[in-house]
Amino acid sequence: MNALSLPVKVYGLPDIRFLPLDEWDERRPVALVTSGPAWAAVREDLRLQMAWRGSPRQATLSHWQEMLAGLQGEVVYAVGGGLAADAAKFLAAQRNLPLVCIPTALSVDAFFTWASGVREEGCVRYIETRPPDLLLVDLDVIATAPPSLRAAGICDVLSIATALWDWRFAEERGQNPPGMAYAEWVAAVARGILQGALDCAEAAGAGDPDGLLSLVQCLALEVLLCNLVGHSRPEEGSEHYFAYAVEEEVGPGRSHAELVGPGILLMARAQGQETAPLERALRACHVPLDAIPQEVVERTLRRLPDYAARHRLPFGIAHVLDAEQ
Ligand SMILES: [Zn+2]
Repeated sequence: MNALSLPVKVYGLPDIRFLPLDEWDERRPVALVTSGPAWAAVREDLRLQMAWRGSPRQATLSHWQEMLAGLQGEVVYAVGGGLAADAAKFLAAQRNLPLVCIPTALSVDAFFTWASGVREEGCVRYIETRPPDLLLVDLDVIATAPPSLRAAGICDVLSIATALWDWRFAEERGQNPPGMAYAEWVAAVARGILQGALDCAEAAGAGDPDGLLSLVQCLALEVLLCNLVGHSRPEEGSEHYFAYAVEEEVGPGRSHAELVGPGILLMARAQGQETAPLERALRACHVPLDAIPQEVVERTLRRLPDYAARHRLPFGIAHVLDAEQ
């Protein structure tokens, strides 16, 4: 998530309820934002009175505006992954409707955040929308998600490893703007969350309820920390820049993790960090690490310094890749 220089408003986290979805009672007419496979995973269990249903195809404002035009209902539900959540946050914010989010996989941190990522001019821009009011988490549903998505959101916690390095590097180079100064205590908290993710990776990747619960806690804490400090430097750095740049090459429709996951390993290597624990955790969570053709990876690495500068991304190893290697 991109940064504000000062926390104008500190958002909290959504309420989180862990329960089997067939125990949930919703009486209001629902505007449902979902995808075919995600809805198929929960429709037997979830009783909703549907007033409207939309399936976002892409993360662009123009597409979400089109969806908004026909939307009906008294509450917005997002059922699925990051795209459904980001679109639903936009729709609920525009209509000032309550928002309930039901993740069918722990695929991203977007379920907890107050912003929606939109694709614009070959990069990702985060616009303020709103956090969900409520997150309904059925760990049995998440356990049966496709393995490559089930716990893939671990990328948004493991990215702390490379983002913190970048943040400190920027401080040493005098590149942190006011409001984003490196704070060792924030970094220490973030490292604690990172350790939590490394510790739970195997269990979460296997769909074990305790492991999935730990991953929910890691994601929630990572988001809360960024909310409190008013920027995302503890969690987002060059690994995300790589993901944004490579998405421009491979096109939309890829999971966040299959772009960020390789980015974490590539940037950690460029930073001179040990990559083995990160790779173990990524593999334990079945994050696809070879989904991007090697030649595309290399081309992206070559243009990353220019890309990072052109999109004015906060300073990190991405800005100086050729110079440092
Ligand atoms: Zn991310």
